[in-house]
Amino acid sequence: MGLSDIQNAMAKAATSAGRSVDDVTLIAVSKVQPNERVEAVLAAGHRVFGENRVQEAAGKWPEFKEKYGGVELHLIGPLQSNKVRAALELFDVIHTVDSEKLARRIASIGAEIDRIPRVFVQVNTGDEDQKAGVPLDGVDALVAECRDLGLPVEGLMCIPPVNEEPSLHFALLAKIAARNNLTGLSMGMSGDFERAIALGATHVRIGSAIFGDRVKA
Ligand SMILES: *Cc1c(COP(=O)(O)O)cnc(C)c1O
Repeated sequence: MGLSDIQNAMAKAATSAGRSVDDVTLIAVSKVQPNERVEAVLAAGHRVFGENRVQEAAGKWPEFKEKYGGVELHLIGPLQSNKVRAALELFDVIHTVDSEKLARRIASIGAEIDRIPRVFVQVNTGDEDQKAGVPLDGVDALVAECRDLGLPVEGLMCIPPVNEEPSLHFALLAKIAARNNLTGLSMGMSGDFERAIALGATHVRIGSAIFGDRVKA
C-alpha cells in the first residue's frame, strides 16, 4: 500500500456509496513512524496528519510545519489536562474530547492563547470499560456543553472494539451525529476505512496502510 493506493481505494469506496471523495478527509496517522517515511508523504503533497501523543508530535511537527507550508494536524489520542496547552499550540483539530472538564479546559486555554481548535467528541460506542470516549448516554449533553463553550464541534469520533464488526459502530455513530445536527464523522482506520466511507465517514484515520507497519520502540 501507500498514499496513492489509499487515495484510489478511498475514491472507489466513495463512488460505490454515491459520495464524492472530496467529502472525505484523509488523516495520515504518522505516530511512531520514522521521519523519512513522514517526509516522503509530505513531499508527495499530503498535508493532513494525525498523531496520538502530544509529546511525540511536539518533537517532530514544528520542524516539518516550518519546512512544508499548510500542514493541518489532528490529535487522535487521549488528551490529559496538563497537556492541553501544548496540544493547542500544535494541533488544529482535537478528535478526543470526552468529558466536560476537558472541553472547559480546551475552551479556556484556547481563549487565552487565541487558538481555538475544531473538535470532535469521542464516543465509546462499544461501552468498553477501559476505553476512552464519552458513554452513549452522555453524548448529547457533552455536544451541547461544547457548543455552549463556543468550541466548534465538527462531529463525532469512534474507535470500534477490536473483535466486533466495525460497521455496526460506524452506523451507530452516524445516527447519534444526525440527531445532534453534526455532519462530521471521524471513523475508519487501515483495516476498515472503506466500510466507514460507505457509512458516511468524513475523516478517515489511516496509519499503517500508508506508512507501513509501525516500528516497535
Ligand atoms: C493509530 C491510530 C489509527 C491508525 O491506525 P492504522 O490501523 O495504522 O490505520 C487511527 N486512529 C487512532 C485513534 C489511532 O490511534
